[in-house]
Amino acid sequence: MLAEDLIAEAPLPPFPSSAVDGYAVRAADSGKTLPVLGESAAGRPFEGTVSPGAAVRVLTGGVVPDGADVVVMVEDVGLAGESVTVPAGLKAGTNFHRVGDDLKAGDPILGVGTHLGAAEIGIAAATGRAQLPVRRRPRVALMSTGDELVEVGNAPRPGQIPDSNRWALLAALREAGAEVHVLGIAPDEPEPLRALVIGALRSADALVTSGGVSVGTHDLVKPLLESLGTVHIGRVKLKPGKPFTFATLGDGRVAFGLPGFPVSSLVTFEVFVRPALRKMQGFAQLDRPTLPVRLGYDARPTPDRTEFQRVTLRRDGQDLVAETTGSQSSSRLMSLAGAHALIRVPAGAEGIGKGSIVEAMILGLP
Ligand code: AMP
Ligand code: MG
Repeated sequence: MLAEDLIAEAPLPPFPSSAVDGYAVRAADSGKTLPVLGESAAGRPFEGTVSPGAAVRVLTGGVVPDGADVVVMVEDVGLAGESVTVPAGLKAGTNFHRVGDDLKAGDPILGVGTHLGAAEIGIAAATGRAQLPVRRRPRVALMSTGDELVEVGNAPRPGQIPDSNRWALLAALREAGAEVHVLGIAPDEPEPLRALVIGALRSADALVTSGGVSVGTHDLVKPLLESLGTVHIGRVKLKPGKPFTFATLGDGRVAFGLPGFPVSSLVTFEVFVRPALRKMQGFAQLDRPTLPVRLGYDARPTPDRTEFQRVTLRRDGQDLVAETTGSQSSSRLMSLAGAHALIRVPAGAEGIGKGSIVEAMILGLP
C-alpha cells in the first residue's frame, strides 16, 4: 500500500521513441527517395538530425532523431542501396511515441492509499523510482479454539474435525494484506487459552480467533477479551455471524472473535475484519467493489437479522444474474466455495423477489 502520492518527475517516454522498425523522415518528404544518413537503435541514438530530404533508420525503442516527424515502417519503404523510397501521403506523428505521451512531468501517477499491484509497481519502476514509501502490513495473530479440532492432515478421532478455519482465515488474512502469525489450536480451557493470547499479543497488532464466542459454557473467548481489554461488540444482527465479537486491547491493538462455523467466520471476516485491516494499512478503498445485479431467485429475509447470501453470477444479455449457491447454512462451506458475490438482504418481512436489481459485493470473478 502506497503511503504518499506519486508524481512524475520527468516525462514518460523521456525521448521520442520509435514504435516500429523503420525510417525516420519528414512528412514533407512523402513519396520521395531519400538517402539514409545512419541508424538509431534502442539505447544507441543517432547523433545528428534528419535534414530535409533525408532519412535515418530507426529500430523499435530507438530515439527518433530531431527533424523527423514520422516513422515509416520498414514494410512500407522501397530499399535500394543506401536510399529508401517512402510512400506518398505520410502523416506527421505516426509510428512513434512522443515525449510525455504516457506521463508529463508533474502528472499524478498513483495516489496515497493505492494497492501496489503488478502494473503499479511497473509504472513506479518505469519512472525510475527505486524506492516507494509504503505502510507496514498489520501483524495478525490467528488462533482456532475448540477441543474438537485436529491439525489438518491428522486423522480425526471420533467427534473430532479438521481445523479448516485456520487455513481459510490464513488465506483471507493474507489477501487482506496481513502478515500472519499462526498460533494453532487452543483448547476450550481458560488458562492455556489466556497464555497463548497474552504471548501472541506481545508482537501482534491484531488478534483473530475462531470459535468460542457463543454462549455455551465452553465459550471462553469473550470473557478472556473482557479481562484483557474492552469488548465493544459481543453480538451482531447478522446472518451468518451473530456471535461476532470485537474488542480493543490497549496500545492500539484490536481483537476480532469470529464465530466457529466456517461460513460465519469467513462472512464476518469479509464484513468487519477485511475493511478494518485495510484501514490499518491506509487503503483508500476499504470495501469490496459492488455491482448491480438481477436476482435469479427469491431472497427470503430473516426477520431480525441482515443476511449476506452467497451467490454465483452469470451473464444474461445486459444483466448480471445472481443465483443462490444453495442451502445457506452457516456450517455449509460449499455455499461460499465458488461464490462470486455476497448479496445483502436487509432484515424484515419483505423479501427481495426474483428479478429485483440489488447490489452485489464482489468477492472475485473467475
Ligand atoms: P463454536 O463457535 O466454537 O461454538 O463453534 C461452532 C461450530 O463451528 C462447531 O460445530 C465447531 O465444531 C465449528 N468449528 C469451530 N472452530 C472450527 C474450526 N477451526 N474449523 C472448522 N470448524 C470449526
Ligand atoms: Mg467451540
